[in-house]
Amino acid sequence: MSELEKIFKKIDAYRDEIIGLQRALTSMVALGPDNGGTGEHEKADYLKKRLKELEPDYLEEIKAPDERAKHGYRPNIIATWGQDILSSTTWVLCHMDIVPPGDLSLWEGDPYTVRVEGDRIIGRGVEDNQHGIVSPYFALKAIKEAGVTFKRPVGLALVADEETGSRYGLEYLLKEHNKLFRHNDLIIVPDGGNDDGTMIEVAEKSMLWLKLTVTGRQCHASTPDKGNNSLYGAARLIVALEKLKKEYHMEDDLFSPPVSTFEPTKIEANVPNINTIPGKDVFYVDCRILPSYKVEDILTSINDIAGALAKELDLSIKVEQYYRQNAANPTPAQAPVVKALSRAIRRIKGLEAKPMGIGGGTVAAFFRQAGLPAAVWITAKDTAHQPNEYCLIKDIIEDAKIFVSVFLDESVE
Ligand SMILES: [Zn+2]
Repeated sequence: MSELEKIFKKIDAYRDEIIGLQRALTSMVALGPDNGGTGEHEKADYLKKRLKELEPDYLEEIKAPDERAKHGYRPNIIATWGQDILSSTTWVLCHMDIVPPGDLSLWEGDPYTVRVEGDRIIGRGVEDNQHGIVSPYFALKAIKEAGVTFKRPVGLALVADEETGSRYGLEYLLKEHNKLFRHNDLIIVPDGGNDDGTMIEVAEKSMLWLKLTVTGRQCHASTPDKGNNSLYGAARLIVALEKLKKEYHMEDDLFSPPVSTFEPTKIEANVPNINTIPGKDVFYVDCRILPSYKVEDILTSINDIAGALAKELDLSIKVEQYYRQNAANPTPAQAPVVKALSRAIRRIKGLEAKPMGIGGGTVAAFFRQAGLPAAVWITAKDTAHQPNEYCLIKDIIEDAKIFVSVFLDESVE
C-alpha cells in the first residue's frame, strides 16, 4: 500500500471521530460581541488542546484586544508542522466564530446539539466554518498517525471575528504579525465553495452599497401641483440608473454572472396614508463591480445621473456610500495554490476544478489586499447561516483527503 493510500484508509475510519469533533465544537457557542456573545474562547481552548495532540512544531494563541469580549481579547490560534524556512508553507485559515441561529422555530432541534441523519450532520456552525476546521484537522491527524513526515511546512490558522468584520481576526494577524504569511505560501480558505467541490474562488467584485435620498415636497394627493412627488422621482431614478448596465457592460467569464450588477434593493417606508404625496423617499442600491472597473468612476456616473434627474424634476437627490469594499487584485488562476488544489481535486474526485470569481465579501479579500494569493475552496452544500445548517460526512472525508494531497504535494514550485 502506498503512503497516501495508508493515510486515506485512516481517514475513512474517522467517521465517528468526525461526528464527535463536530458535536463538541457545535456545543461551544462562539458568538462575537457584535452578535450578542462573549467570544470564541471555549472553542479556541478546546481546539488548542486537540491540536496539541497532533504535536505541532509551533503553537501559539494570539490575543487580539477587544474589551467587549471575555478576558478583554479575542483568541486566534496558529499551529504549524515542519520547520523548513526556505520552502513555502501551505496554510489553511478557518474561522471559529459562528452566526446566531436566528428564528428558533425554523430549527427542527436545538441548533447547538448536533443531530446526525444518515450522512448529514446538522447544527449551527457545522458547515460554516467547522467543516473547514474538521477536514484539515483529520488530514493532519492521519498524516501523523501514518508516521509520514511533512516535506513542506503546513500551518493551520483558526481565527476569531470572521462573521463580524475580521478586525479581531485575520485583519489583526496581518497587521500585527505580518511575517506569519509570506508571498510564496499557499493559502487555502475553506469557507466557500460549491456542491461538488470544483469551484476554486480566486477573485471577487468590488462591493458598493448606496443610500439614495430623494427629497421633493409633500402635499395632498388631490393637488399634486402644490408639491413635488419624491416617489415619482425615486422611480425615475431607479429607471435612470439602468444606464449603468450599458455604460459598464464589460464581461469577465471568471464570474457568474459575468457582468457588473447594479440592483435597487431596499426601500424605506414613506408616508403612511394613500392620499398624501410623499416629500421624501429613501432607497438603496447594491452594486457588485468587476475588478477591472474603478469604483470611483461608477460613483461619478451615478452622481451625474442623479444630478441630471434632480435638475429635470426640480428635486434634490443625495447619494451616500453606505458600504464599500474595493476588490483586491485576483489571485492568478495559475497561482501555485490553485494548481495544487486542482491537482488534488482531480486525484480524489476525478473532476476538473474551475477558478472562479464571486460577488464579494469573503475573508480572503484581506489576504489579497495584502498581496498574498489566497484561494477559497471547500465542498459545500451552501447552508451557511440558514436554519438546520448541515454538512455531509462524505464531503468532510473527501475534503480531508484533498488536504492531505495538497499538504504532501511534491510538485509545488
Ligand atoms: Zn464562514
